[in-house]
Amino acid sequence: MPTHLNLLRNQGMTAQADGGCVADSTDESVPRFTIAVRTLCEFTAKRGDLDLRFTPSPTALEGIAGHQLVASRRPKGYRTELILNGRHGPLAVRGRADGFDPAAGRLEEIKTHKGPQSRLPDNHMVLHWAQLKVYGALLCASQGRSDLELAMVYLDVTTGKETVLTEHWHAHDLQTFWQQQAEAFLSWALQEADHRERRDEALNRLAFPHAEFRQGQRSLAEAVFKVTRAGRCLLAEAPTGIGKTMATLFAQLRAMPAQKLDKVFFLTAKTSGRGMALGALSTLHATSRPPLRSLELVAREKSCEHPDKACHGASCPLANGFYNRLPAARQAAVDQSMHGPLEAGVLRQVALAHQVCPYYLGQEMARWVDVVVGDYNHFFDLHAMLFALTQAQDWRVALLVDEAHNLVERARKMYSAELRQHSLVAARAAVRTSGPAALKRRLGSLQSTWRKLNQTASTPYHPLPGLPDDWLAALQGAVAAMGEFFSETEGELGRAGETGEGRVPNLAGQIDPIAPALRAFYLEALHACKVAELFDDHGLCDLTAPDAPLHTPRGLSTLNLRNVVPAPHLAPRWAAVHSATLFSATLQPLDHTRLMLGLPENTAMLTVASPFCAEQLRVEVAHRVSTRYAHRADSLSAVVDIMARQFHALPGNYLGFFSSHAYLQQVAEAFQTMHPDVPVWIQQRGMSEAAQRDFLETFTEDGQGIGFAVLGGSFGEGIDLPGRRLIGAFIATMGLPQVNPVNERMRKRLDELGRYGSGYNAVYLFPGLQKVVQAAGRVIRTTTDQGVLHLMDERYGRAELRDLLPDWWRVAIK
Ligand code: SF4
Repeated sequence: MPTHLNLLRNQGMTAQADGGCVADSTDESVPRFTIAVRTLCEFTAKRGDLDLRFTPSPTALEGIAGHQLVASRRPKGYRTELILNGRHGPLAVRGRADGFDPAAGRLEEIKTHKGPQSRLPDNHMVLHWAQLKVYGALLCASQGRSDLELAMVYLDVTTGKETVLTEHWHAHDLQTFWQQQAEAFLSWALQEADHRERRDEALNRLAFPHAEFRQGQRSLAEAVFKVTRAGRCLLAEAPTGIGKTMATLFAQLRAMPAQKLDKVFFLTAKTSGRGMALGALSTLHATSRPPLRSLELVAREKSCEHPDKACHGASCPLANGFYNRLPAARQAAVDQSMHGPLEAGVLRQVALAHQVCPYYLGQEMARWVDVVVGDYNHFFDLHAMLFALTQAQDWRVALLVDEAHNLVERARKMYSAELRQHSLVAARAAVRTSGPAALKRRLGSLQSTWRKLNQTASTPYHPLPGLPDDWLAALQGAVAAMGEFFSETEGELGRAGETGEGRVPNLAGQIDPIAPALRAFYLEALHACKVAELFDDHGLCDLTAPDAPLHTPRGLSTLNLRNVVPAPHLAPRWAAVHSATLFSATLQPLDHTRLMLGLPENTAMLTVASPFCAEQLRVEVAHRVSTRYAHRADSLSAVVDIMARQFHALPGNYLGFFSSHAYLQQVAEAFQTMHPDVPVWIQQRGMSEAAQRDFLETFTEDGQGIGFAVLGGSFGEGIDLPGRRLIGAFIATMGLPQVNPVNERMRKRLDELGRYGSGYNAVYLFPGLQKVVQAAGRVIRTTTDQGVLHLMDERYGRAELRDLLPDWWRVAIK
């Protein structure tokens, strides 16, 4: 795990960028830095390989019981939890050694584990010894001892077996070791304290990088500044084109010094949003040159240099000796950050120059930068790294959540799980010949419980009233047995991520020479268990069966845990930060969005007036067309006719949006048959990023034609086609999600819960209209753009529905 500073906060101290503290006092008798021994060693003494092979670790309770067991085996007079303090210049350390036997002159550090002690990663053991040696130095100094026996006691909590490693040390050697650690720490800590001071001074003077604010941009920036000062959350709906990214980032950075913020996290739903944030940070760097460190966090899949290898020294050269080279790489990255954001490509160059993994260097740098630009996952999901660090380091953080209309849906996915019985069958097959009997028994028991559950289902979608207790107990038993199996074998479980809470398996795991199917099922099952732990009436449980009927012996199902309202899971995330600003062009109704996201009651709400006027966009509703599923075939000629008439009346570039690829194809074929003279470009399923770029490049200033796209897809938001690159849009759908058993059950559950308003609105209407407004927002991008929007469905004629559309639109019913 990358090292970090976790300084203890003292009274009268000023928070620092590293989450630590600096004393305001210049009195040399007051330590400037105070740190726990363990944390000091994690920063200074971690050496060797990065090793993310899965090693099951004892629970907190098992750890406590393990320490008690060791103490109960020691002779009379044995002292536990020995408090030790030390001082080196401006640095004070504190800690508790696990045990001391005065009669034997032996100081012990106890570490509990599961499985063979020989399988503990070397870098962990180096760290354990460093900790013990510092304790030894402090003990010798406090008791005036000339030497000491140090004992590392490894206790296997499963068997109760102790492995004791001892070394004899002279006091002066221990003292030298402790001073080396203190010096290494101080040199970094002083650099960080100095950076914080210079950063805050510069941010106090930070100038807006453009000659003037755009219309609406200033009011958004002021709102961000005010909520940060008040330590509150803000939901801000602001139209596209006003420069939301720069407004929010600039205001947040200006608020940083006075609010003593350690970090700003800019979180996005899509890669395009990350690019905008990094662009804004580069502009600020270029214009004001603040000593501000910023970092782009990317997914492991995108930054791994050796996708065919596993994350440990025996497999990957960039994991081998990672911690030996990390200090130099970390310093190089810090130096590089003064020239602009540490974008993924920049960080990669630094990492490769020092032969360390770019992905894990990025994880490390998240601790040392001021601004992190990452995905929603990095803060909101079950094992979110930035959230775990915020808590562990006690950071004072401000969040900026970009395109926040995506967060409800994304968070639902984070707190949902699907477990496939197919995976269980494959896992059982993988261990059939060689697996231990206990494991086979547990997997078999889960299979038979699952079959019984299937017997209760007579339809391919079978709602369950709640979590099936028997099934869950069998699943937990199987997970425990698989954990034991992996701890007892040399099994390479694949990649694991670390969150600061301990090791957490990553679902995107890869190589496993022993049993890939077992490993895959284990990781899916672990996630399902975690989601099940959090399951309540904000979630739904069901069985689905893609293949044979469930009640037949061949029937295999998927058990789904579906989150309906993410509010209870997100509320602790808001509580963990100083302030949060969520912004988007489509958040209406704001009250509803606040409730679904679990934002606090005192969340400020802002609707920024559009800089655009009704004269810029002609909005026409074709209220005689119905695009409901049952009427689609009949709608084709009317839809084609409206598109063709508009194109011929004003030739130029247009985008048409449809509810599905199937409907898109029907309309496109009809259009091409009737109007073969009009160029068309058609969105294909699963287009690569390059193909998407090609599609967009077809929209040139002097081009003419119609692009056919799916509403809610890659071209429905986050694309910028200003001026004549796009002069109009046709939206032949209400954007409502499909009516199906899952959505209907979600609608009912929301109605039952009551406090989130109408289930129909939450499941269908609001998400649908958000997509429509996002897609329509592609047409007018600047105050000089002119365009036309055709809303094709009779339901747009309803007044209550039109109230949810942007108020600067003037809608004509045709
Ligand atoms: S993420 Fe890739 S490059 Fe990094 S340690 Fe793992 S295998 Fe190696």
